[in-house]
Amino acid sequence: AFELPKLNYAFNALEPHIDARTMEIHHGKHHQAYVTNLNNAVAGTEAEKMSIEEICKNISKFPAAVRNNGGGHYNHSLFWNLMAPKAGGAPTGALADAINATFSSFDEFKTKFAQAGITRFGSGWAWLVKTADGKLSISSTPNQDNPLMDIAEVKGNPILGCDVWEHAYYLHYQNRRPDYITAWWNVVNWNEVAKRFAM
Ligand code: MN
Repeated sequence: AFELPKLNYAFNALEPHIDARTMEIHHGKHHQAYVTNLNNAVAGTEAEKMSIEEICKNISKFPAAVRNNGGGHYNHSLFWNLMAPKAGGAPTGALADAINATFSSFDEFKTKFAQAGITRFGSGWAWLVKTADGKLSISSTPNQDNPLMDIAEVKGNPILGCDVWEHAYYLHYQNRRPDYITAWWNVVNWNEVAKRFAM
């Protein structure tokens, strides 16, 4: 069965950018619910023995409950590791070179990525995707869809993702999604993003 992964840091470790109460509810209630509902949805089906990545890559074959909760489980498992205490700053090395080459500068990249999150109507995610040809692309998906899914507009390996559901920021930022994204840059774990870019 799928399991809720442990956080590598305390609930309050991302403060003041992401508050402890939001982290506690987001991880312990929201992500846990995706895991529980995913396990219920795959019970007794072929998906039960598949990895979450495999499920995402074949998502068009599965019912909505698997898409929503499988996506929720994959996305959040990724999201927790894309953040870290005392993180932020800017990427270095090959990832920095690729970002500069693709988006002209790191600041331009941040603006475009934030825009993808801000303009996502309703709930969803902003992504930095490494496509099959090794290129970088910014995209946004609704609900709990992600770039691994065979139904995604921009397909590839997500190397950075920002959760723009209200549950990710509402307690601290209320309706101010742009302020949440601005603060979120301070906790982005670029080491993890670079590792995923190198895969
Ligand atoms: Mn979430």
